[in-house]
Amino acid sequence: MSEHIFIGVAWPYANGPLHLGHVAGAYLPADIFARYHRLKGNEVLMVSGSDQHGTPITIRAERESITPQEVVDRYHRQFVDCWQKLGISFDLFTTTGTLNHSQVTHDIFLGLLKDGYIYKDEMLQAYCPKCQRSLPDRYLEGTCPHCGFTKARGDECDDCGKPINPSDLKDLRCYLCSTTPRFESSEHFFLRLSSFQDELASWVKDKAYWRRNVLSTTRRFLNEGLRDRAITRDLNWGVTVPQPGCERKRIYVWFEAVVGYLSASKEWANLQGNDNAWRPFWNDDAKSYYFIGKDNIFFHTLIWPAMLMGYGGLDLPYDVPANEFLTIEGKKLSTSRGWAVWLHDYLERYDPDPLRYALAANMPDSGDSDFSWREFHRQNNNELVATYGNLVHRVLTFAHRNFNGVVPIPGELDGRSQELIHKAEATLDNMDDLLYHCSFKAAIGVAMALAREANRYLDEQAPWKTIKSEPQASAKSIYTILYVLSALKTAFYPFLPFSSERLHSFLGFDGSVKEEGWRLQVLPPGQKLRQPQPLFVKLDDSIVAQESSRIGAVSDE
Ligand SMILES: [Zn+2]
Ligand SMILES: [Zn+2]
Repeated sequence: MSEHIFIGVAWPYANGPLHLGHVAGAYLPADIFARYHRLKGNEVLMVSGSDQHGTPITIRAERESITPQEVVDRYHRQFVDCWQKLGISFDLFTTTGTLNHSQVTHDIFLGLLKDGYIYKDEMLQAYCPKCQRSLPDRYLEGTCPHCGFTKARGDECDDCGKPINPSDLKDLRCYLCSTTPRFESSEHFFLRLSSFQDELASWVKDKAYWRRNVLSTTRRFLNEGLRDRAITRDLNWGVTVPQPGCERKRIYVWFEAVVGYLSASKEWANLQGNDNAWRPFWNDDAKSYYFIGKDNIFFHTLIWPAMLMGYGGLDLPYDVPANEFLTIEGKKLSTSRGWAVWLHDYLERYDPDPLRYALAANMPDSGDSDFSWREFHRQNNNELVATYGNLVHRVLTFAHRNFNGVVPIPGELDGRSQELIHKAEATLDNMDDLLYHCSFKAAIGVAMALAREANRYLDEQAPWKTIKSEPQASAKSIYTILYVLSALKTAFYPFLPFSSERLHSFLGFDGSVKEEGWRLQVLPPGQKLRQPQPLFVKLDDSIVAQESSRIGAVSDE
């Protein structure tokens, strides 16, 4: 029976370009998972969008002397273009700037307010006497009370990832002019997070299947005790507060960004022409997965579940497979220092599948991992081109030359050939289990191991030698490898969708891998094969030095 799988993916701030850390952290794993579940015949809804509110946007707009909306529009267009080129198959990628999003946010806000989960209280708000303005958290900078990082922001520490209250920062200063701010009392709304402490703790109890880091981070916050958090700020850019006298306040971005998962689902349903189509993805029978970086764990395993518990009637996260961080050439990624590989820049010059391969094979799903151009070059040339692409090309070209371009009749298969065919079947079964449990790095390793095994078999069998003396033996080995290639086009599809669809066509199949589903599609002897083109392009050695020297050259400033 088909399942309903909801996939929420972190909302990127539309204040700068996407980099490989974003892709490896959330977007690629989410896409692999969505493609896998679609092949399995499950109903999938994968949504996200540009986070267009929040002070990172206004800071950028002020720096460039343009409006926040201009900043947002520029990057939103770039994001959409990148997803399309990289093959990130969102069902909807929207923005938090829609009327629908405001309405859904207001609905959640008012629901929580009515039941007392949101209340009004005074809080101290920073004010810069020199800039003569109130300073939202991102406009504050200081030393992190947890790890001592000297450039921690007022809402969160970039270094240790812990959320912060601005008044906890040491050596507090205005981000714009470095003046020490003063604090003034201001009335704001608070989420009564403390009242969900017990309910959240018992909800987390049966989440032993979560990734170790996600579970330990969540438990650490629970052990420290959850504190109520202000959810409004004195700002003029963001979702309005649906209460009288709040014209100069906006809902704080972390509160409304997570609501985006729900509002995007409703927007998608509306676009389907069925306003209720989102419901099966948000009831108890559905499974919801949230793909995020580890710096977002708190918001997805505690805050969003608390909001859903308070509001009622909506499904809580089933899993939050947060990834660790990706380093670049051994160093911590930093957009402000330009230590990043920008996604749009990559896609202007290279194909999408080699990047998808490199990031999936090094996916930071169980620990931090590194991207380097040397390793990218090696993986492209030694694994994609030499192991996988050349296997496809050699066997298909051989079949065209010697078997009239059709799948040969194998005759009786010997033990060795049967063993390889069993291995192909076992590969799909094995990967099924790994993909289901979000073990992407392990799954792509299993697929590549099958390609390696097929190469060994081809070298042993040497059909180019037997074609004259023993044509039946040659036919058998070519048939066996074609069978394995049919398994590989499905096995690689969630990871390498572009080349998988091409291989599907080279093997003489019509339609698409996507329509065939997660099964080993058997090649009937006599099926007409198509002329193959190289699946992957060999890259020149010089790109390693060239590309490495570009890192750090362009910051997002
Ligand atoms: Zn200032
Ligand atoms: Zn810190």
